[in-house]
Amino acid sequence: MLQSNRFYRARLHPVATWDDFERLPLTTKAEITADQQANPPFGTNLTFPIDRYSRLHQTSGTSGTTPLRWVDTPESWDWWVRLWADHVFRAAGMLPDDRVFLAFSFGPFIGFWSAFSGAERLGALVIPGGAMTTEQRLRTMLELGATVLCCTPTYAIRLAEVAQGMGIDLSASDIRITVHAGEPGASVPATRDLIERSFGARCFDHTGMTELGPTGFSCAARDGVHLIESEFVVEVRDDTGAVHSLLETGTITGELVATNLGRWGSPLIRYRTGDRVELTRAACQCGSSFAKMIGGIRGRVDDMFTVRGVNLYPSQVEDLIRRHPTIGEFCIEVGQRRGMEEVTVLCEIQAGDGDDVMSRLASDLRLALGARIECRQVAAGSLPRSEVKSRRLRRV
Ligand SMILES: [Zn+2]
Repeated sequence: MLQSNRFYRARLHPVATWDDFERLPLTTKAEITADQQANPPFGTNLTFPIDRYSRLHQTSGTSGTTPLRWVDTPESWDWWVRLWADHVFRAAGMLPDDRVFLAFSFGPFIGFWSAFSGAERLGALVIPGGAMTTEQRLRTMLELGATVLCCTPTYAIRLAEVAQGMGIDLSASDIRITVHAGEPGASVPATRDLIERSFGARCFDHTGMTELGPTGFSCAARDGVHLIESEFVVEVRDDTGAVHSLLETGTITGELVATNLGRWGSPLIRYRTGDRVELTRAACQCGSSFAKMIGGIRGRVDDMFTVRGVNLYPSQVEDLIRRHPTIGEFCIEVGQRRGMEEVTVLCEIQAGDGDDVMSRLASDLRLALGARIECRQVAAGSLPRSEVKSRRLRRV
C-alpha cells in the first residue's frame, strides 16, 4: 500500500521478519518538517489522493517551531477515536452515563477533538468548553453536573485556584474522574495528589502525539502509563543510539520510538518521539500485558539539564514544587556560566511569605535531588501560560 506514499516509498523495503523491520530507518520530526516545508501544504506522507482525507489538525508549535499539519482519512480518524474510547477512557473507568467536560478552546490541536469523539463513542454526554472564561467553565461544569474533566494538569490546578477564589468547593462537586495530557503532570505524584484533593476525584494520565496517535493511558496501578501495543510497535533508543525492541525483557531507558499500525493515510514508521522514558515489561497489577512507562513520560529528551553533574528533568522539580500549595505557575531557567549550566527556579506565589517558601523549596531540591538550585519569587501572572503544553524549561 505504501507504494503510493511518496515520503515512505524511498525509505522502505519489504518486511517479512522482525530483522527486516529493525533494518528500516528511523523517522525524525526534522524529516517530516522538512518534507512539509518542501512540499506545502501537506507534505508527501500521504498514502491516498488528498481528496480521500476528511480532517486536518496541526501541532501546537511550541518553542518557536513551525506547526506540523496532519491530515486523516475517515478510517484513520476512526482508529484515533477507538483508542480513546477503548483504552484511555475505559482504563479511567468512564461509563456511558458520565458527563464529560472538555476545558479546551477547540482550536486545530488534535487532542481536543479526539478526546471529544472518544467520549462520544463511549456513549457519554460530551460538553465542549471552548470560548469560555475559567469562571464560566466552572459554572457550566457545576450546573450541568459534569462527572469527568479533561484538560491539562496545569489548567486543572488553575481551575481549582479560581474556584477557591469564587468560594466553590470543587471536592464537593460531581467530578469523579479527571483525564490529563500534554504534560507529565498527572504522573507526577505531588501534582496528581494536588488535583485529586482539589477535585475529590481520581486523576489519570494520557500520552499521545499529533503525528503518531494516542499512545498510552494510565491504569489503576497508578505508577506509570501503558503503551497500547496492540496499535503501536514500541522500541527504545538508548543513549548510545542503539534501538531495543521490547520483545526483550527487563527495563530500558531512552527515547521512545514508535510505529503506528492503524493510521494508514499518514503512517509513521519507527518515529523518534523525543520523549524520555523508562520502559518495563514487568507484570502490572492491573492485569494489562502492555509495556509500561514507569512514572509516565519523564520529559522531552532535550529538556534534560545538569546541575553539578546531576542530570535532571523538569518533572522531578515539579514533583517537589507541587508539595508547596502556595506556589502557582513556575519556570525552570537554565543558563550558562563558565561552561556550566546554571539553574534558577522562578515561582509565582499566591499567598504568604514568598521568601520563606523559596528557601524551603531550595532545601527540598537539595535534599531530594542533590542539587543546589536557586529559587526566586516573580510577580504573579508574569510567567507564560499555555493551553496545550506548558513548557516549563527555558534556556537563556
Ligand atoms: Zn497497569
